[in-house]
Amino acid sequence: MTQAETSVDFIRSIVADDNRSGKFDGRVVTRFPPEPNGYLHIGHAKSICLNFGLAAEYGGVCHLRFDDTNPTREEVEYVRSIQEDVRWLGWGWGQNLFYASDYFGQLYGYAVKLIEKGKAYVCDLTSDEIREYRGTLTEPGKESPYRNRSVVENLDLFRRMREGEFDEGAHVLRAKIDMAAPNLNLRDPVLYRILKETHHRTGDEWPIYPMYDFAHGQSDSIEGVTHSVCTLEFEDHRPLYDWFLDELEIYHSQQIEFARLNLTHTVLSKRRLVELVDGGHVNGWDDPRMPTISGLRRRGYTPEAVREFCDRIGVARRDNTVDIALLEHTLRDDLNKRSPRVMGVLDPLKVVIENYPEGKTEEIVSVNNPEDMSMGERTIPFSGTVYIEKDDFREEPPPKFYRLSPGREIRLKDAYYITCTGVVKDEATGEIIELRCTYDPETHGGTSSDGRKVRGTSHWVSAEHAVDAEVRIYDHLFSKEDPDDVEDGGDFKDNLNPESLVVLKSCKLEPGMDKAKPGDRFQFLRQGYFCVDPDSTPEAPVFNRTVALRDTWSRMDKARGRV
Ligand code: ATP
Ligand code: MG
Repeated sequence: MTQAETSVDFIRSIVADDNRSGKFDGRVVTRFPPEPNGYLHIGHAKSICLNFGLAAEYGGVCHLRFDDTNPTREEVEYVRSIQEDVRWLGWGWGQNLFYASDYFGQLYGYAVKLIEKGKAYVCDLTSDEIREYRGTLTEPGKESPYRNRSVVENLDLFRRMREGEFDEGAHVLRAKIDMAAPNLNLRDPVLYRILKETHHRTGDEWPIYPMYDFAHGQSDSIEGVTHSVCTLEFEDHRPLYDWFLDELEIYHSQQIEFARLNLTHTVLSKRRLVELVDGGHVNGWDDPRMPTISGLRRRGYTPEAVREFCDRIGVARRDNTVDIALLEHTLRDDLNKRSPRVMGVLDPLKVVIENYPEGKTEEIVSVNNPEDMSMGERTIPFSGTVYIEKDDFREEPPPKFYRLSPGREIRLKDAYYITCTGVVKDEATGEIIELRCTYDPETHGGTSSDGRKVRGTSHWVSAEHAVDAEVRIYDHLFSKEDPDDVEDGGDFKDNLNPESLVVLKSCKLEPGMDKAKPGDRFQFLRQGYFCVDPDSTPEAPVFNRTVALRDTWSRMDKARGRV
């Protein structure tokens, strides 16, 4: 069965019904319509997977259309990044790349047609006045004194707006609908405003620009979009879009609304993400803490994991908030299968093995992925001085601590059993700087021939062979589940997590890790999944921790009795 037949979400059933009834002659044309005013985030990924997915499942096409109607906030950099991100997710638009700005001429013609029909007028109220006149949900609005201008006068003024004769704010073009409509969107909305801004595609050709609401539905119509899928906040705009299409007597797409993605510990709004970037709260759009596609990519997410996540959350008509732990769980599932295991010590403590022959090095064999034996084995050099994790030693071990402590024997993964015989401290600070140990040559490979068991196993790296690296550890960008949970007068930035980035500068990794390329992914045993950052060089390797191993989602699932 194809996915279309197995999935039952309400949008897919609408499309299937339309195909059966022949409503669009069996055509399926969807579109993903970003405004190029920021980088895409994981919420957009949901919309991308839905729109491109529908087209793929029903033999249709999905357009990539830039809704570039507001030159004040839009940039070519965003156009470029959006295309890169959609491609990275694994989708393509073929020849179907469009820009709303390509329709500026046509949209202008539509506006003229509405004026000619007596359905639009030029208004001289200021934007504040327009807002005042608009009324509220409980009070009807007030008609503009300019509402009854003649068609001839309106045509003349609109033409002169287009010629650039007036200053910004002097006039707007408004639809003439109903100032008492219960739906505020129908209270004579603005269609065009004067804006003396250079557009990234049309340059200075236009001193007036259509409002998003006037451009969006008509762009869908021009492109012959069948199913215009958008988020719920546009539900109240649908009557307006329908009004335009009906008055203009042009092809009618079917708008269908679904619930946007919200994620705990995250903000998904370009306006807020711009604020974080511009305010220097993060290191750019692709900061690995950002919920942007480029941030997730740099963090080490795979496109497969993001798509799988979008599948798992599905589409519904009710708003809800998805636990970020589900995203991380989906990511681990994917990384677990594909990531070779390596040993990396993040917070190193030196261990000198006193009875190991001086100057000797031997090769230890280790499997690359116990989940996938086809990934093979590798050898790792072992010598008389190794690093282990500081946390794997306690001078006075608490109950249930099974790793190294004075007099105790543990296993060095795949290598030998070692026993701690001494502790060297910094005389001034008392800090433990080195351990003295002995090893048992009879435990080669990490198993003892006499059946003696140890409870703890530590990962390790041979000191003389270790690759020095910087490792960046990330946590949620916002400490609270709901970043909007703030004191009166505060804002979401008050909830930024001060520990969302911790940089570890003196990590020790197994040999060969200096040759890993940006984007390469690994599991550091017991520490999580990591990838090489674009800042990395062979001389100064830099790794990002994509996600820790501890899976809070599985635990929650168990608690809910689902596993
Ligand atoms: P933001 O609210 O982040 O500024 P936007 O809606 O202004 O986003 P657009 O560029 O207009 O951004 O979005 C392009 C498409 O992505 C729209 O169809 C929009 O509905 C969809 N989209 C945006 N945010 C989400 C989200 N959180 N979940 C699902 N779809 C989304
Ligand atoms: Mg929007």
